Amino acid sequence: MTSAPPVDLPGWRHVYSGKVRDLFVPADTADDAAPARLLVVASDRVSAFDHVLSPGIPDKGVLLTTLSLWWFDQLAGADGGRAIPNHLLPDHELSGDDAVASIPDAVQGRAMLVRSLDMQPIECVVRGYLTGSGWAEYRAEGTVCGIPLPEGLEDGDRLPEPLYTPAFKAPMGEHDENITFERSVEIVGAETATALRDLSLEIYRRASTTAEARGLILADTKFEFGFDDAGVLTLADEVLTSDSSRYWDAEAWRTGSTPAERMASFDKQIVRNWLAENWDKQGEPPALPPEIVERTRDRYATLLRLLTAS
Ligand code: ATP
Ligand code: MG
Repeated sequence: MTSAPPVDLPGWRHVYSGKVRDLFVPADTADDAAPARLLVVASDRVSAFDHVLSPGIPDKGVLLTTLSLWWFDQLAGADGGRAIPNHLLPDHELSGDDAVASIPDAVQGRAMLVRSLDMQPIECVVRGYLTGSGWAEYRAEGTVCGIPLPEGLEDGDRLPEPLYTPAFKAPMGEHDENITFERSVEIVGAETATALRDLSLEIYRRASTTAEARGLILADTKFEFGFDDAGVLTLADEVLTSDSSRYWDAEAWRTGSTPAERMASFDKQIVRNWLAENWDKQGEPPALPPEIVERTRDRYATLLRLLTAS
């Protein structure tokens, strides 16, 4: 996916496309040099079960970027907690009229200007509630990512305490693989693995409190971190978006009697559910119907409104 530039941006050179985001470096960066900064552009592409689907979700890239910037700001201290280091360049401080001057017009609203970090190949997943692949494993084995859990839990139940369940970030085109904490120690070393875990749990707890105050449950989420030039472990990528997290309506969760009622979600569960019913996971996934696209867009927009309306 690194070949065709998704969009031609003056002053920037396309270097990489992930499933959702396109990465650019300053056009004058030498081929073998580490880029000073990156432009991370969120597209409207949507992925599920590690496949990019079509069509995209209109405005999704803008919604994701707006939400990430809001969360970076919360975690920098707007929520009253300590400042978590993040990858945004100062151009991205939410205040300031000329704040986004170096972002090309064509991608305003959907791009973040960030420091290029030494990314750690671990997807730092935190689960506060049992569902999805965690629920499937629990039903079969009584564990989540090998961690034993009490008997009798149901789909959507709150876990006794938030669990850190890392995954190895697979090279492009391969599936990320759930790993134990011990395996993450083998991959990045004990000190880094411990720091990744502790920081992930800290951010999850803080964000859950913020979400709860707005009537939302942050069921689970995934972070990515990298080291900056000074060796500081820094929060990168997108953060706490409806792509990287499951959000549920707290009231529906308390009062609902079926899993579907309890997990009224503000994320791409609609897409996952539709795909699970309409695709056998062989070959290319079918195109999403307009109704699913529209409902997903509505859910993403509603989440942004619920979180950021103060
Ligand atoms: P993959 O990398 O397997 O394609 P993905 O589909 O999740 O994963 P995207 O999220 O679409 O990829 O693309 C974003 C990419 O940018 C990720 O590989 C992520 O690790 C990387 N990234 C995010 N922030 C930074 C940063 N500050 N410095 C360097 N790389 C970053
Ligand atoms: Mg990603």
